[in-house]
Amino acid sequence: MKGWFVGLALVVVVVASGVGLWITWDSTQISSADPIGPTVGLVSPPTSSTRPTTTSTTVPPPPSCEAADDPVDGDPMTDWATLVVDPAHRLPEGFAPTDLVEATEAGFEARDQVRAIIVDDLAAMRAAAEANGTPIVVISGYRSESYQQELFDRQVEQSGEQDATLRTARAGHSEHQLGTAIDVLDPGVGELTPAFADTPAGRWVAEHAHEYGFVMSYPDGAQDRTCYAFEPWHLRYVGRDAAAAIHDAEVTPREWMWAARATAADAPG
Ligand SMILES: [Zn+2]
Repeated sequence: MKGWFVGLALVVVVVASGVGLWITWDSTQISSADPIGPTVGLVSPPTSSTRPTTTSTTVPPPPSCEAADDPVDGDPMTDWATLVVDPAHRLPEGFAPTDLVEATEAGFEARDQVRAIIVDDLAAMRAAAEANGTPIVVISGYRSESYQQELFDRQVEQSGEQDATLRTARAGHSEHQLGTAIDVLDPGVGELTPAFADTPAGRWVAEHAHEYGFVMSYPDGAQDRTCYAFEPWHLRYVGRDAAAAIHDAEVTPREWMWAARATAADAPG
């Protein structure tokens, strides 16, 4: 009889503390609601070793996709996680990262170059995809401004200027010039088409790339916000914390980065 009573008391205590925890958690969810405008969950860029703090703020929508040559808002060497590089914003003329290494450093056969800062997570993503039985191959990494110019000119010849701007960045406007963007494919399907999304590797990448700090810059059905057609193969490295935040926020990387830069500009000091 006594044992039964102690057992019941324990159950009551456990349930009560569970409810308390739930209420605490739930109130943080409610406090992020903002009746004035859209909210985007933000995480500070992974430049410090401390855990980033999550905040919530009202942010301006990203600029239009209209072609312009405004300078990017930041230093491409240090602000790689939050720098918006799009049709309206261009990198400094002739910019090239100073720490490029071959993708072979991450275990790939490709000798395309990437920045050294992404190698560890790129290697981890490669190994995880392979362990899952859905290996990926890298087919593009860093591109110089002049090479991007060649690609754009070729695309214009193929499909006309208007279509080209939806598929290929103009020189100075490519995330590939950052050295933190890569194109990946399934080894069995060697073409850059949206069909990659339906390959085993494409499905794995869509589900898991963010766990290794990579985000899909140009997701499906978001052309008005990303400025480009669906590119399931194009991944940009933003670090694991930012990638998780973008994934959770359910916004495109461009929108998240624009908000992150606006917040950084507003921050005192
Ligand atoms: Zn790409």
